[in-house]
Amino acid sequence: MKYRKRTASDFVFKEELGHGSYSTVYKAIDKHDLKRVYAIKVCSKAHIIREAKVKYVTIEKNTLNLLARENHPGIVKLYYTFHDADNLYFALDFAAGGELLSLLHKYRTFNEQLSRHFTIQLIDTVEYIHSKGVIHRDLKPENVLLDKEGRLMITDFGAATTVTKAELDGESRNDLNATNSTSSFVGTAEYVSPELLLYNKCTTSSDIWALGCMIYQFLEGCPPFRGSNELKTFEKIVELDYTWNPNKYATNVNGNSNKNINPMIIDTVRKVLVIDDNERITISDLKREPWFNGIDWNNKFDIWKGIFT
Ligand code: ATP
Repeated sequence: MKYRKRTASDFVFKEELGHGSYSTVYKAIDKHDLKRVYAIKVCSKAHIIREAKVKYVTIEKNTLNLLARENHPGIVKLYYTFHDADNLYFALDFAAGGELLSLLHKYRTFNEQLSRHFTIQLIDTVEYIHSKGVIHRDLKPENVLLDKEGRLMITDFGAATTVTKAELDGESRNDLNATNSTSSFVGTAEYVSPELLLYNKCTTSSDIWALGCMIYQFLEGCPPFRGSNELKTFEKIVELDYTWNPNKYATNVNGNSNKNINPMIIDTVRKVLVIDDNERITISDLKREPWFNGIDWNNKFDIWKGIFT
């Protein structure tokens, strides 16, 4: 069958799912296959040009296309892109479970089991992203969506950057100073790495830093470094000024509580939140942390099981 380019008229647009700085996302059904539900991101061409977002839209599209090739479950899949006179359209996997941040707000904190479930899926996905030469640069719970079974999908690659295989395999992963474009602040204050703040440097390890911030947030309910304004947040980051609340009353998904955070988790986060990115734990060492004992990282079925089924 000859491939026909999709257009907006191939879909029935349903409710709005949300909007971002340069797009609005709608739930949409494929008119030719009513069982296929997508999230279609609609970006107004005029708005993108006016707000100088062309670069971000282009990066997002190219990165999603690159990452979609291997069907990794942890990446929101881009199925079609098309445009008309007014808009650009991205037809994406519909994340029926919404944002991970909303789930976290609902439960206030995650218990150890749920934190481990999401952390394992994040590690597997971040490892995949890096293996393709991509640094996400804006990992945070808002950029993690959930399917209806509670499997996560990383989204929002508008701030991503790519590095060549040679750079990835280079002398040391820590010499990976992706591109000059990394020298400006991208990302979100609470998750930004100290090397970006101190040396305008962004490496694959900067994503691992953000991952460490998220693990902390799962258990404590807020990111480890948060000041009253961005500058104070940055000061806390470069001073590694964070503490665990020893008496935190955590309500887990079943409404039970666990007062004490497992020291193994605290130890894992300590190895991630290291100022010097040369000393920071690598993904492969992270996978060997005692908190993940019993996980067979090659058993994708086990890693990618849902939580709501
Ligand atoms: P910004 O672009 O400013 O960083 P954003 O990434 O939240 O913001 P969008 O990607 O346009 O912006 O997403 C807007 C909202 O739509 C998201 O916050 C999310 O709630 C929802 N959304 C985005 N993608 C999907 C998806 N694939 N499935 C379900 N909901 C989605």
